[in-house]
Amino acid sequence: DPSSPLTSPGGPAGGPTGEVLLQARGLSKSFGDLEVLHSIDLTVRRGEVVVLIGPSGSGKTTVLRSLNGLEIPDGGQIEFAGGPSLDFGGRLRKQDRLALRDRSAMVFQQHNLFPHKTVLQNVIEGPVQVHKVPRAQAIAEAEALLSRVGLLDKRDVYPFQLSGGQQQRVGIVRALALKPSLLLFDEPTSALDPELVGDVLTVIKELADEGWTMVVVTHELSFARAAADEVLFMDGGVIVERSSPQEMFTNPRHRRTRQFLDRIL
Ligand code: ADP
Repeated sequence: DPSSPLTSPGGPAGGPTGEVLLQARGLSKSFGDLEVLHSIDLTVRRGEVVVLIGPSGSGKTTVLRSLNGLEIPDGGQIEFAGGPSLDFGGRLRKQDRLALRDRSAMVFQQHNLFPHKTVLQNVIEGPVQVHKVPRAQAIAEAEALLSRVGLLDKRDVYPFQLSGGQQQRVGIVRALALKPSLLLFDEPTSALDPELVGDVLTVIKELADEGWTMVVVTHELSFARAAADEVLFMDGGVIVERSSPQEMFTNPRHRRTRQFLDRIL
């Protein structure tokens, strides 16, 4: 049913809109002598779209990976509504770390699809293997999601037979199939040819409009303008400025923000 939303129980319907879904406080992370995150605070409310911008190397990806449990910060806390709650300064419980990974799903810059699996096999892998969803149910849900992004006819082909934009849309479907409370996008269009960027951003914007909660790292300022509730500008491992897209793009307060925006606008 192409008119049905891309919703799922774990997504927009998971709780009251506006409730604080994720609270990160004082996240810090170093790689050797390099301090990559310096006391990052982040609040994400249910239904909200937070866009992270900033120069290359400023720590944006490391923030996303920390939220998803792919990176373990050296200090700080991450708390999800209804759990888990992690304190990186103390002893981490394995079950909390695993729960953290379960709450969000990441869409990477490169799609990261399994090359030897078909589109359908890629999408049902997580639900079947990780969440123990019955195969028939996982297939039905995967087909509904693929149909919604216009790729049902590609269900039995392999990733190499798809365009970059189609691969990325499958990557998004694969994340949705996990029914996370939070979607994380790490420069989802930066590896695409320019003419393929629009399709992928349209899908992400539709998800935002349907109430999915997301944190998006992107250089696509027109997307940020259209979709973001809040824009955070990062530089050198700190959040320099946070405001509405309107405020950020027309009236940035900090010199570093202005310099960055002047360079990419
Ligand atoms: P951004 O997403 O803003 O480009 P990243 O979070 O990817 O920034 O990287 C921030 C800094 O951390 C960069 O200097 C990068 O080289 C460094 N970095 C990221 N991951 C690692 C790692 N696993 N080991 C060492 N340095 C890393």
